[in-house]
Amino acid sequence: MGQIAKTTLEGLVGVYPVCSECGQAHIVRDAETCWSLLTRKWALKTICDTYVCDECGSEAAPIWKMDKEFRLKRIVRLNDAVRLAQGKHSTVVVTAGLQQFGEAYLARVGRAVTDFHQFNEANDPHGEHDFGALTLDGEKLFWKVDYFDLDLTAHSLDKANEDITHRVLTIMLASEY
Ligand SMILES: [Zn+2]
Repeated sequence: MGQIAKTTLEGLVGVYPVCSECGQAHIVRDAETCWSLLTRKWALKTICDTYVCDECGSEAAPIWKMDKEFRLKRIVRLNDAVRLAQGKHSTVVVTAGLQQFGEAYLARVGRAVTDFHQFNEANDPHGEHDFGALTLDGEKLFWKVDYFDLDLTAHSLDKANEDITHRVLTIMLASEY
């Protein structure tokens, strides 16, 4: 693993600003736009440094909060997409031990992982759909999702952001875990 780069809270999926005076989430910022010949619309040119609360008029710096439900839904959708082979940046890894079971068995394992939906409090305590256990022909198998950056050299800075996350789905024998 490379060094862990820093990310700001504002950069995370699900984060939004609220007024530090009245607590409302109606924060606006002044900005300048300029005419775009290409799109024939006013395009954003610069955003001013200041914040204004549309509710109380306060110009105090906002507090950044996390919409956990929004964020969790995004993570679940992206993790489900990997199992359905619909991930934007993803790889599927089958461990050496499991590969020895042959192609026909592996094809059935692939279908079982794709179809997996038995998520519960015990196997998915965070509700992120990032792990599953199943039994096929008496063999206990696990699958799990790990989150890397696009270079596959470090952990993802935000697993809820598909543009900066490469997901690796690993399917393995339970005995290899
Ligand atoms: Zn306010």
